[in-house]
Amino acid sequence: MITIKSITKSFGSLQVLKGIDLQINKGEVVSIVGPSGAGKTTLLQIIGTLDRPDGGEVVVDGIEVGSLSSKKLSDFRNQHLGFIFQFHQLLPEFTALENVMIPAYIAGKKKSEAMQRANELLDFLGLADRANHKPAELSGGEKQRVAVARALMNEPAVVLADEPSGSLDSKNKAELHQLFFDLRDKFGQTFVIVTHDEELAKLTDRTIHLRDGLVEHDSAADNLTQTVLPSQDVAE
Ligand code: ATP
Repeated sequence: MITIKSITKSFGSLQVLKGIDLQINKGEVVSIVGPSGAGKTTLLQIIGTLDRPDGGEVVVDGIEVGSLSSKKLSDFRNQHLGFIFQFHQLLPEFTALENVMIPAYIAGKKKSEAMQRANELLDFLGLADRANHKPAELSGGEKQRVAVARALMNEPAVVLADEPSGSLDSKNKAELHQLFFDLRDKFGQTFVIVTHDEELAKLTDRTIHLRDGLVEHDSAADNLTQTVLPSQDVAE
């Protein structure tokens, strides 16, 4: 679903990504963790085509994004990707339902179809009775769930989340992360989540540790070792 080959990125003289290789499969819920400044957000932004790498290749949902023009990139993002940020970034003057419908509006989809999908999503996220409320009338957890619904509006193959639960209390945090699994199970999306929360990261299918612009550890490698060498202890 996502293939990253030899990605490098510098800001001025600071090399932030020093050669990242990753393969993320369809339907995986992956967390990216690591110390502040390790390059997590930069990597997510590059996967999300919000920033371009200096070198290397990024393939998302079968498309090599480096070759796309700015206009095509914007269409690509709207059709293939969903974004969730730490702060929900809902538009205050619109209702929850209208906020969820925005990506469909940008994509030029029919209003009746968009409204139906937005209502379905809000229903699935337990927000059916909050659809006509504006963000100021919603709790923090509800606002973030509206932002999740908005990210899913155009049925993206990949959802990218940067500290999605960073502004939530522990109960809402746990619920939001459970939601990612429920959504993956229902719609089959791939989730890539940048988080500082190591406990929550442990709950995801796979945790990738970045340090100093490199992959320091990928839990997928542990699983591979266990699969390839299951009887090592027995043999010794
Ligand atoms: P944090 O956990 O603190 O959010 P991070 O691992 O997500 O950190 P990044 O946000 O990717 O780290 O930033 C990596 C480094 O690149 C940091 O030193 C940051 O200051 C620098 N950086 C990020 N974006 C820019 C930019 N647009 N211009 C200059 N420097 C940048």
